[in-house]
Amino acid sequence: MAQVDAKIETMYQEVLKRNPGETEFHQAVLEVLESLGPVVAKHPEYLERRIIERICEPERQIIFRVPWQDDKGKVQINRGFRVEFNSSLGPYKGGLRFHPSVYLGIIKFLGFEQCFKNSLTGLPIGGGKGGSDFDPKGKSDDEVMRFCQSFMTELYRHIGEHTDVPAGDIGVGGREIGYMFGQYKRITNRYEPGVLTGKGLTWGGSLVRTEATGYGATFFVNEMLKARKDSFDGKTCLVSGSGNVAIYTIEKIHQLGGKCVACSDSNGVIYDEKGLDLDLIKQLKEVERRRIEDYTKTHKHAKYIAKGNIWDIPCQVAMPSATQNEINGKDAATLVKNGCIAVGEGANMPTTPEGVKIFLDAKIAYGPGKAANAGGVATSALEMQQNAGRDSWTFEFTEKKLEDIMINIHRNCFDTAAEYGAPGNYVLGANICGFIKIANAMVAHGLV
Ligand code: NDP
Repeated sequence: MAQVDAKIETMYQEVLKRNPGETEFHQAVLEVLESLGPVVAKHPEYLERRIIERICEPERQIIFRVPWQDDKGKVQINRGFRVEFNSSLGPYKGGLRFHPSVYLGIIKFLGFEQCFKNSLTGLPIGGGKGGSDFDPKGKSDDEVMRFCQSFMTELYRHIGEHTDVPAGDIGVGGREIGYMFGQYKRITNRYEPGVLTGKGLTWGGSLVRTEATGYGATFFVNEMLKARKDSFDGKTCLVSGSGNVAIYTIEKIHQLGGKCVACSDSNGVIYDEKGLDLDLIKQLKEVERRRIEDYTKTHKHAKYIAKGNIWDIPCQVAMPSATQNEINGKDAATLVKNGCIAVGEGANMPTTPEGVKIFLDAKIAYGPGKAANAGGVATSALEMQQNAGRDSWTFEFTEKKLEDIMINIHRNCFDTAAEYGAPGNYVLGANICGFIKIANAMVAHGLV
């Protein structure tokens, strides 16, 4: 085992050397590699064929210029990315993120995680991710449209139903997917719904895709609670963010009997001890695109904490649904001290390594993003199935499929953790379970 660990450490050092300055990517790689010792000890063929080193190197990385004009006629330039990470299980699949913090290291961490997440869904999809340092906040609809058209004018040559199928992520929702789909159709002269997911319902989208990541994460936490003979009933919950994932996490928590008392955006936190008014949040965020602070204009009893830390509020269930590294070691310790018994990650890598260690040591139910938030991409794959069959399924049918997929992912992670001697450790379970499927496919495909 010590020999295997030394080999894995050498691989990690090589990743650091080959990808300087990409700290989020390093963090995501280390988290997976730390779980793989027992797997490669059982499967020496993975070492012989250098599967881990190959998985850490994206199959293709595309970086491009995105020029566009703002409403004043001024030329603006952003940078676009698409990292096609691994296609051993199917076409590359993963979202596009538009946020000023985007650079190659963020897209690579997301693309790397995506490979294992997609493997966990049990559906035939490989891993990829893309985006831009463009900030949609404060831009007019016309500016967003011109940006999306310029972005797609380069991206279109790299994607396709059988090649690479992007979707949304931070800053990319139905509006942006619409503009990109329109431009794809115009340039290629092909009505090809299978090229993007998260589409509108009248032009190839799937019911439940909008709700899928939040609903799925909540189903996953529900399974973790059930495994401990517990439930959401009467639990006080926190959900960070107030975007797509946060909104539908809150909705499903309320449907399952929990009470969500706080959410946030990058400016501050809303605390409503009576339980959040979700209709109002949807109106503010989805329809009017306003800041969460405006919640208190309707509900005077609620508190707005500018620049506040949501994790300081006592809760039993926490579901980070905003961005990476939003829970640090101190936040994790506060959550545990305040009686938190379950954490389910709607966001990707929202907990720092110190935070993860605190959750694991405290033996609370901790569902890492690559397992807990896999419902979004799983439902994207269901959208692809409907597009391929020129079909559209009902809400109930699609939601049931999503729930079954999440139950299955939970079961596989739970059983794998137990099999590898770490019962209840969903980090280990998810990493090993996601890895083995990809590794076996890569062995079968030969050196490609
Ligand atoms: P949205 O853009 O809809 O919402 C993002 C929310 O998080 C907003 O409330 C935003 O606040 C907040 N946020 C974003 N960046 C930061 C930051 N740096 N600091 C503080 N708050 C921030 O994105 P989604 O809901 O789609 O995505 C949220 C998370 O879920 C991401 O980690 C994403 O990768 C992950 N995810 C999303 C999936 C999907 O299907 N959409 C699938 C799987 C994972 P503000 O408006 O102030 O920026």
